[in-house]
Amino acid sequence: MLAAYGIAILLAMAIHYSRPEALTVSGTNLELARSHNRRAVIETVRLNGQLTRADLARLTALTPQTVSNIAGELLDAGLLLAGEPLRDGARGQPAIPLRINPDGAYSIGVQLDQQQLVAVAVDLAGQVRGRTRYPASRPTPAVALPLIRQALADLRAVPGLDWRRLLGMGLVMPGPFGVAGMTSVGPTTLPGWEEVDAAGLQATLGLPVLLQKDATAAAIGERLHGIASGMQNFVYLFVGHGLGAGLFLDGRLYTGLRRNAGEVGHMIVMPDGRPCSCGNHGCLERYVSLQSLYETLGWQGEAGDCLARLARLEGEDAWAAERWLAMAARALRQAVNILECLLDVEGVVIGGLLPAALLAQLVERLHPLPASIRQCDGPRLQVGAAGGDVVALGAAALPIFDEFNPGYEALLKASA
Ligand SMILES: [Zn+2]
Repeated sequence: MLAAYGIAILLAMAIHYSRPEALTVSGTNLELARSHNRRAVIETVRLNGQLTRADLARLTALTPQTVSNIAGELLDAGLLLAGEPLRDGARGQPAIPLRINPDGAYSIGVQLDQQQLVAVAVDLAGQVRGRTRYPASRPTPAVALPLIRQALADLRAVPGLDWRRLLGMGLVMPGPFGVAGMTSVGPTTLPGWEEVDAAGLQATLGLPVLLQKDATAAAIGERLHGIASGMQNFVYLFVGHGLGAGLFLDGRLYTGLRRNAGEVGHMIVMPDGRPCSCGNHGCLERYVSLQSLYETLGWQGEAGDCLARLARLEGEDAWAAERWLAMAARALRQAVNILECLLDVEGVVIGGLLPAALLAQLVERLHPLPASIRQCDGPRLQVGAAGGDVVALGAAALPIFDEFNPGYEALLKASA
């Protein structure tokens, strides 16, 4: 359980570590410590179901007095619930188990990609309480903002959600962020997002907004809801219109200097290969991505719902998909070898927007994988299990894990 606690805290820390401004905060700042300890208590209870104050003190290494103060604050704020006292026949006060109040707080996760907007509302226990989806064709901010507002209105209408307890919204989209010649350029990114930042969105939408790449959000979603829950070191390869990776290393999310770590789509795997919109040749996403698949199929533009069509390929299309699978497997095999040799991870998880049957065929064709330095038991490559909403779920986790989220302060103050 201690390990599980550590993972949760590190995940929480990793998310605020990815924000450059967080690095300027002194480690001795009492408000920071208080906020961090509060998140530690919430996450430890969340991971363990229910715990007494004594359990919490032991697992978090906080003093009983600190745990007692924080627990009191969180109970008053409605983030925790107290259960029936546990009587074990021993002397002393009966211990009161504490658990998460699912309705203590909510969070919204929004995924934007080339063809759609998916939004979910999750509660503090991580359960999905509402979902909505809108088709969208390579949405610019001008197109996406009204859709986000509509999605928020849809979710606001979900029965049982107290909107006053909303912590904020995680908004995720394809990367990279802020790279001249790559951001908003080419068919695998979204146009017009160069100048948009979280602060501007927050001012426009009137709620805390955290921005992240879709592949990073997918790694969070898989960590919380899928097969990576026990993994300390893994790479999540997200096959979207392009290709990105979420990196979870030493029990924490690694996002890099400018949140662009894991932009493996522009890793050159075929020198002198296919030209890429970034100006290079032979980038990985020119072989492993929906965009590369659509090109092999000869599908142009955005006519119809391409994702739905992919699930029922026949005739010439089925043959073209076979050709793509062979080409994609060749490039991906090399990429898995590079990622393992570079990062020494337990495993690579692959998922994304590809229909399940095509993804399974792609994974099957990767074997045998080339040798690498990896020395772990268990599968080297697994298909993600968090489901089609893995990105939106990861996005929804962002405000919940953010220690500096002012939403928490508002809830605590509201209860005072
Ligand atoms: Zn490229």
